[in-house]
Amino acid sequence: MINPRFEKQAFKKEVKNNVKTLFRKTIEEATPQQLFQAVSYAVKEAIIDDWIATQEQYEKDDPKMVYYMSMEFLMGRALGNNLINMTAYKEVKEALDELGIDLNAIEDQEPDPALGNGGLGRLAACFLDSLATLGYAAYGCGIRYRYGMFKQKIEDGYQVETPDNWLKDGNPFELKRPEYAKEVRFGGNIRVEYDEHGKTHFVQENYESVLAVPYDYPIVGYNNHIVNTLRIWDAEPIVDFQLDSFDRGDYHKAVEQQNLAKNIVEVLYPNDNHYAGKELRLKQQYFFVSASLQAAIAKFKKKHTDLHELPEKITIQMNDTHPTVAVAELMRILLDEENMEWNDAWEITTKTCAYTNHTIMAEALEKWPIDLFSKLLPRVYQIIQEIDRRFVIQVREMYPGNEEKVAKMQILRDGQVKMAHLAIVAGYSVNGVARLHTEILKKQELRDFYEMMPEKFNNKTNGITQRRFLMHGNPLLADWVTEKLGTKDWITDLPKMSGLKKWLDDEEALKEFMSIKYENKVRLAKYIKEHNGIEVDPTSIFDVQVKRLHEYKRQLLNILHVMYLYNQIKEHPEKSFYPRTFIFGAKASAGYIRAKQIIKLINSVADVVNNDRSINGKLKVVFIEDYRVSNAEWIFAAADVSEQISTASKEASGTGNMKFMLNGAATLGTMDGANVEIVEEVGADNAFIFGLSSDEVINYEQNGGYDSRQIYNSDPELKRVVDQLVDGTYAQGDTEMYRDLYNSLLMPQGNNQADVYFILKDFRSYAEAQEKVEAAYRDKDRWAKMVLLNTASCGKFSSDRTIQEYVDDIWKLDKETISEEIYE
Ligand SMILES: *Cc1c(COP(=O)(O)O)cnc(C)c1O
Repeated sequence: MINPRFEKQAFKKEVKNNVKTLFRKTIEEATPQQLFQAVSYAVKEAIIDDWIATQEQYEKDDPKMVYYMSMEFLMGRALGNNLINMTAYKEVKEALDELGIDLNAIEDQEPDPALGNGGLGRLAACFLDSLATLGYAAYGCGIRYRYGMFKQKIEDGYQVETPDNWLKDGNPFELKRPEYAKEVRFGGNIRVEYDEHGKTHFVQENYESVLAVPYDYPIVGYNNHIVNTLRIWDAEPIVDFQLDSFDRGDYHKAVEQQNLAKNIVEVLYPNDNHYAGKELRLKQQYFFVSASLQAAIAKFKKKHTDLHELPEKITIQMNDTHPTVAVAELMRILLDEENMEWNDAWEITTKTCAYTNHTIMAEALEKWPIDLFSKLLPRVYQIIQEIDRRFVIQVREMYPGNEEKVAKMQILRDGQVKMAHLAIVAGYSVNGVARLHTEILKKQELRDFYEMMPEKFNNKTNGITQRRFLMHGNPLLADWVTEKLGTKDWITDLPKMSGLKKWLDDEEALKEFMSIKYENKVRLAKYIKEHNGIEVDPTSIFDVQVKRLHEYKRQLLNILHVMYLYNQIKEHPEKSFYPRTFIFGAKASAGYIRAKQIIKLINSVADVVNNDRSINGKLKVVFIEDYRVSNAEWIFAAADVSEQISTASKEASGTGNMKFMLNGAATLGTMDGANVEIVEEVGADNAFIFGLSSDEVINYEQNGGYDSRQIYNSDPELKRVVDQLVDGTYAQGDTEMYRDLYNSLLMPQGNNQADVYFILKDFRSYAEAQEKVEAAYRDKDRWAKMVLLNTASCGKFSSDRTIQEYVDDIWKLDKETISEEIYE
């Protein structure tokens, strides 16, 4: 049943009233931003009914809850998604139409809450959507960054970062909860005290502290009245900065606390798959973990007296190692604040915390210098020392005389705190995010841990939510799917999409499917015209690579291939070439210089190619500025080809690949991450696979790399492309602009081998796969079947499936339902 507040007359009245009370305006006078606010507050009213009902139900049933701890939640816009999940999108759209308001334009006023970098943060957002939809009690726990992911501008082809002040107009969906604020302490020293029973107590002195203040965001389940909570923490000084603290001689302390609070939540680090080792980052981690745990324990204690029961009511999932300090902080709370004994506290902690591994790349592994760590978190560090001491004893018991094992597995080693080791030792579950990735963890990167504790290791292949990435992003296709299946079941049961297979031989259905793709390409072409000033032809092949810019993701391979195609077209104008539009979207971490050079190169190639009249528009290159969830939804809907071309073994899963598949694009990719499982579902004939296997890559790596010069010297067409990096073709005569990229492909730098991402090695195989793409696309009937089959085969890749697996194998949560009677 739909909330009566969405009944048309009532909703219109509410919107009018909100415009009046918030802005003292009429609908006609209000700005689009003000209308967004007024509509959002009206929607929030309805959500709050369900939010309260859900929390009352949880209060009554006391179900086991998951606390999903993540430094990042890449939520995307809330308004449209909330309306979809409340099943009120169409009603509200009509009501607003009657007021002369265009819902799409209103949605476009909402800033994207970009509290994440890429896949890891978006995964957390999809998981929250699925948890609420499946009826599981969950809290997302994170940080309310004042500035989210920077906004990307392209100026003269270069990425320029500007601050993302996403809260400047306020956020209608958030709820400040000052009554749940918690103190978080940093630094100082630990004094040991003994009480009258001879028991030891550890007292932190001379610390600095901040007040963690939670803001709650509703997470609306689909059509089930369940509303969970994303709780993100803001930092405030403990004592408000007051002039009279001057008189009390506490001026400096007041200023320091003010600054500490301001700095902690100031900004999201824009690194994707890369560890920077900044002290402020560790402060952020401890800040939100400590506050979240304190709140979780306080909530538990409202209903329970015996903390030994904690693992039956709470489970903590750590999204990568970023929140891993949670295991030591939970120990600290149990030991120091709840006065428990070590063995009891350890038993509880190791039944409560679980860890998700997201990468095997060395540069992404978190290893904090011990001196930094122990100064910032002195008591937590002591506890890690004791965890480490006991673990080393265990290793020695199991592998007597094998100090090499100890060296490889110790938590504290080489002057560092190794967060992954801590997470594995203290976690009751260690999961990878796609089958191949989990196998690599077990056989290579975490082999010693796997051999010692195989029962902890498991796989949970990632997924995405079809509510956002089909219903909201591609309404034309969503409606068509419902019509063809004769049911909406797929919205909460994605494997039902396989029912579309019965239309594979229906010419009319295939035509409809492709004309929806065409409409979506027209929609994206308009966006590109508006934002880039470039005309693209919606009948050309839309070949898309959108994801964070990283060398392992190999945008460089893609653009080198574009340069190669351009040479081919120029040299053989007589040869037929199916028009292609190469679309890129990618942010580079602000300090990742080579990634930024690649962005500049893509834009330079775009400049040359798009302005060469001699090629008759056969080739276009577009770099979409500021890739983010809101424009991603449109891009997936419009794609023909999904570029998933990472160096095999480097992409743990990928989720962009799944969003493309859902929207009817064919995968052009390596056998990496979840691509392997995508090909398994759709069949090898319906994807374009190329390149080295992960085994081959790992084998080369273990034998010192490969000789890229040999390929360069034996393939004149490829050599020409590589040379064009340094002959000025794409740099108005400047031969140095792309020298570093050229060197990265050919020159051994120091002890490292050249082309460590195997770009030249995979180039020919990639180019051949691209020829197959063209041939397949020319055969309209074959192509239509292929991409429909992709949509029909995407059932496995719903985050609903992923979450159900986490629940069954790891979390063991109870399913909740809310009665329809809440509106009576
Ligand atoms: C899905 C998504 C990602 C992750 O893409 P990958 O191709 O898996 O790296 C990154 N950013 C946004 C905005 C997304 O929606």
